[in-house]
Amino acid sequence: MPNTINKASISRIKSNRRIQPSAKELIKEILSGNKTALSRAITLVESTNQKHNQKANEIIEACLKKKNKTLRIGITGVPGVGKSTFIEAFGNYLISQGKKVAVLAVDPTSSISKGSILGDKTRMETLAKSENAFIRPSPSGDSLGGVARKTRESIILCEATGFDIILIETVGVGQSEIAVHSMVDFFLLLKIAGAGDELQGIKRGIIEMADCIAINKADGKNKQATRNAKIEFTRALHLYPPKKDGWLPKVLECSAINNDGISEIWKMITLFLHETKSFFNEKRKSQNKYWLLQTIENNIVADFYNNKEITLKLEALMIKVKNQEISPFIAAEQLLAFHQKT
Ligand code: GDP
Repeated sequence: MPNTINKASISRIKSNRRIQPSAKELIKEILSGNKTALSRAITLVESTNQKHNQKANEIIEACLKKKNKTLRIGITGVPGVGKSTFIEAFGNYLISQGKKVAVLAVDPTSSISKGSILGDKTRMETLAKSENAFIRPSPSGDSLGGVARKTRESIILCEATGFDIILIETVGVGQSEIAVHSMVDFFLLLKIAGAGDELQGIKRGIIEMADCIAINKADGKNKQATRNAKIEFTRALHLYPPKKDGWLPKVLECSAINNDGISEIWKMITLFLHETKSFFNEKRKSQNKYWLLQTIENNIVADFYNNKEITLKLEALMIKVKNQEISPFIAAEQLLAFHQKT
């Protein structure tokens, strides 16, 4: 793995901006640690143009062959909890420990409303300037499945470029945590202490997925509230069934803005890696299986709904179902049978 990003190759690619590099050229540059080539390859992954996607597939296939020891960390939390401040502090800390850090985001809201929750503001300013960091905002897409797939492919590209820690940020507002959880080795939930109602408004599923709950903004007047929240979360975590890998999720506190508790979080993650070592590859394999099946499912569904004849027939059947002229099950069967014939 190269230690520094290859500057000569960056300027070569920059000076050639107008000429589209071939897949082979991009592969070569990516494998030598070129961030500009990485950006370009991610743009191909994100493109809706089929030719671009074919090129992206060729690049991904080559990148998959590069065996790296990487770590993928998912970070979630509601807007305002301090995700970008935390990632800035944590990312800079990791870089100070000799790591190369890529930050990706999964923000399905970017396709629904114009303003995405992640990425509108200027975020992670010092991290963005670091030679050993790479930050990419969330891809847009029609569906969470589409956004997640693109991010997953971008992870592979980042890893092949030599980034050894990939932070994947998501908004704690819905299904996107499940998607991110299924692409990472470690899942971190950021929380802030409230007024004794810590467990309210937090979905059970998200706590269950977390390998660590970090209570952020543990500073100033918040310190006592954080301590109480820590006790409450620790108690709550004991109520969940043990994880397959045997890991007991931890509750830590931090102040991202003051850089407090950041190294402790990394220490805890290294303990996790040590304790769950024998499960690491198994988890990645089962995630690959999940993504294989998920992609098939997504493509079948997209193929079905992109069929003009199907959508016309579906509209007609919906009216019939609404008027109780046909049962929804028979209507579905009729439509599926029609789809099989097309
Ligand atoms: P995000 O929406 O989850 O990405 O949250 P941001 O990182 O944008 O932070 C939201 C607000 O909380 C900003 O005004 C930050 O300055 C503030 N903030 C973030 N971390 C801390 C912290 O550790 N302590 C305090 N007191 N404020 C923080």
